[in-house]
Amino acid sequence: MKDEPHINSKLPDVGTTIFTVMSQMAHDHQAINLSQGYPDYDGPRALLERLQFYAGNGHNQYAPLAGIPALREQIVRKVERHYGALVDANEEVTVTPGATEAIFCAVHAVVHPGDEVIMFDPVYDCYDPAVRLAGGVPVHLVLPAPGFGIDWAAVRQALTPRTRAIIVNTPHNPTGSVLSAEDIAALTEIAERHDLFVISDEVYEHLVFDRRRHESVLRHERLRRRSFAIFSFGKTYHVTGWKTGYCIAPPALTRELRRVHQFVAFVAFTPVQYALADFMAACPEHLDELPAFYERKRDRFNAALAGSRFRFSPSAGTFFQLVDYGAISDAEDLEVVRWLTQEIGVAAIPMSVFYKSPPGDRYVRFCFCKEDATLDRAAAILGGL
Ligand code: PMP
Ligand code: GLN
Repeated sequence: MKDEPHINSKLPDVGTTIFTVMSQMAHDHQAINLSQGYPDYDGPRALLERLQFYAGNGHNQYAPLAGIPALREQIVRKVERHYGALVDANEEVTVTPGATEAIFCAVHAVVHPGDEVIMFDPVYDCYDPAVRLAGGVPVHLVLPAPGFGIDWAAVRQALTPRTRAIIVNTPHNPTGSVLSAEDIAALTEIAERHDLFVISDEVYEHLVFDRRRHESVLRHERLRRRSFAIFSFGKTYHVTGWKTGYCIAPPALTRELRRVHQFVAFVAFTPVQYALADFMAACPEHLDELPAFYERKRDRFNAALAGSRFRFSPSAGTFFQLVDYGAISDAEDLEVVRWLTQEIGVAAIPMSVFYKSPPGDRYVRFCFCKEDATLDRAAAILGGL
């Protein structure tokens, strides 16, 4: 008799996420942490005060399954103002404990065993496991460097009768690329022709630079009809630890999403929802200021790196900057981030972990959602390599 049960892991190849590993390494070696994407500054004071208020005044029990009405109403206003989309607060908006949970629920809502789901490497780490846990088959296509745009001819070739869904992410983590209106047209044509669902991860919707426009699926009526559009308050209000996001989808898709969501998390955090609703109503301009806020940070960091041996083109979106370290080292990126973190004192994320078959490129990702002083210190160190 064995005294331990036999475990047949559902995700045998999956270790601890790279974000956790690198943040821990940064902490252990007191490196400046430009790895995991979270700010070293706080959310707006007025927002934090609203949370204190609601947590201190009895708003601490379960919220409604879909989210509190006041927050869903603010979300409706916001997507009308930004994307011209008219969505129904009751039937199309679901507040979730983070975008990650929304992605998981969207996948589980529509993916059946054996269904194929197209995704693009370098791919955000939660998509593939979510699909596999649903019994689906992830189909990994590659975004060709250095532009990291979608090769639509490759998508068309990858389609089979089992293809059920396609997961897109714009602005894109980790490369910083963004989808264009032409990309959306291609996506719409393919999704309609092959009757696919689209899961559109738009958590960096407001972090789009150089006067580009965020091509939300919500702007495009035909695409919207078959899409789950997923957002995160964490990025937008500098509160990643609040783990609150939302999904907008047509009523039939929302019903399926909620069927799953009610048994995964059931609801999102009550006082956080009240705080966000108040702040969104009081301060809509926060969202208008975000692109410039992050564009300045990107430019400050990149200007300081310009004289270094890292090569890069400025990120088009997100708070990440991809850099090619090929002129500095021939080593693999996992080794390079260990060296950067432990010996040089600046932590980064390696790119290879976001690929099913790493192409052997020489990229690492730095995040620039940091105080200017933090960015300056990091860039000064990196500039000397
Ligand atoms: N998608 C992408 C592309 C992300 O970068 C992140 C977050 N860090 C998420 C989803 C998850 O967001 P949340 O923290 O709201 O779950
Ligand atoms: N999305 C964040 C990043 O890319 C990290 C989120 C997480 O740790 N799961 O850095």
